[in-house]
Amino acid sequence: MTVIIDGKELAKKIRGQVAQEVEKLKNRGVNPKLAVIMVGDDPASKVYVKNKSKACNEVGIEFEEFLLDKNIEKNELITLIEKLNWRQDIHGILLQSPIPEHLDIYDAFGAIDYRKDVDGFHPINIGRLALNRQTFISCTPHGILKMLQEYNINLKGANVVILGRSNIVGKPLAQVLLNNDATITICHSKTKNIDKITKNADILISAIGKAKFVTADMVKQGAVVIDVGINRGEDGKLVGDVDFANVSKKASYITPVPGGVGPMTVAMLLNNVVIAAKYLNAQ
Ligand code: NAP
Repeated sequence: MTVIIDGKELAKKIRGQVAQEVEKLKNRGVNPKLAVIMVGDDPASKVYVKNKSKACNEVGIEFEEFLLDKNIEKNELITLIEKLNWRQDIHGILLQSPIPEHLDIYDAFGAIDYRKDVDGFHPINIGRLALNRQTFISCTPHGILKMLQEYNINLKGANVVILGRSNIVGKPLAQVLLNNDATITICHSKTKNIDKITKNADILISAIGKAKFVTADMVKQGAVVIDVGINRGEDGKLVGDVDFANVSKKASYITPVPGGVGPMTVAMLLNNVVIAAKYLNAQ
């Protein structure tokens, strides 16, 4: 029987735990606060920022939004980040991607105080992850790890195939799962014979952004299938990278889209804000 992994329910549980931690911090006089910077007016980013604001509100985390014009100069963005680094009332700083191409997003990530880098994209935090030291793990990979752990899916020695090698999902995810003793294969747009590789996966994770790319013939019977992709289907509805209707007949565990990885990403962001607030106010 196939188990549909309920990311929505699990995220709700994590948000409940975060709300309790926020309450404890408030009793100590610390009000956890997230600052979100958005450059330009990308419609998808607007929705993501609105969702993050709502999620913060629900668990008692304060939220401050900074909307910058798409033509802003690099030094104006860095100056704002530095101001936020110094503000003691702000514990987490998130730069919503994408940002306009004339601004280097990695320079901007690097300008964020690594202790407030709740997205886990600062080079120090990426380096610490590579060294398997305590750090902010970026939210989507962290959410996937939590899901696998909550459903008692074995990672030790498991053959994990990740489709996608982006800096925000594929690469940190590979590192997180490697740190948990899985054996990792990463595929990308230049990989040959992807279907042969995916068929060997005990756990197959797709993060490429192509609707229904993963078909049932690419999946081993009984595999765990995690779908990170968020795409619009022909009917305008959200669909993942996985052909859910057919792959779910073969998988032992599978995440739906929506209601799988997405809610976990937001829950882990809230969790990271609490960690930052605790760390910055450690006595
Ligand atoms: P991205 O930066 O565009 O990276 C896509 C990756 O997929 C690249 O490594 C690319 O290979 C690879 N790829 C593209 N076409 C491929 C193909 N035909 N075969 C094999 N590999 C292929 O995307 P991203 O930011 O990582 O996001 C990926 C998807 O996850 C998107 O749908 C995004 O919306 C979604 N997402 C969801 C969440 C969530 O919380 N659920 C969070 C983040 C992202 P190359 O490197 O060779 O170009």
